[in-house]
Amino acid sequence: MVSSRIILFLLCLLGGHTAMSDHGPLQKVERSQKEWQEILTPEQFHILRDEGTEPSGSSILNAEKRDGIFVCAGCDLPLFSSKTKYDSGTGWPSFYAPIEGHIETKLDFKLIWPRTEYHCARCGGHQGHIFEDGPEPTGLRYCNNGLALKFIPKESVK
Ligand SMILES: [Zn+2]
Repeated sequence: MVSSRIILFLLCLLGGHTAMSDHGPLQKVERSQKEWQEILTPEQFHILRDEGTEPSGSSILNAEKRDGIFVCAGCDLPLFSSKTKYDSGTGWPSFYAPIEGHIETKLDFKLIWPRTEYHCARCGGHQGHIFEDGPEPTGLRYCNNGLALKFIPKESVK
């Protein structure tokens, strides 16, 4: 199901407005760990709420090439347009730019070297990490867990 709020946003996006900031700041979604466990599958919970990483090559979204929008699996906020998706060869869905204002970042020290973690700006759900080996025009690679996203093809938002 696609909520009417997302459809409105997508219509807005297709109409040329690129940021939701036109409509004021994002209303944060806050839920307890228990509530998230009821909404998400165990695999989604591990990634979104515990900063887990799915195995490379495991996501069906790797092969997704249709026009549309990738939304947060936790709260349905649109995070990436199919226009910025590309095949990075890493086995994770990859994008060179997010939808403006819809992701936030922080430094992650889980590995020895710091990495830039990014998450949904509305529900805080972990999505992936940003690397500096992406294509033009940004040179960035948003390496995303497929389980943290849901794809909505363009034709289904008409
Ligand atoms: Zn979210």
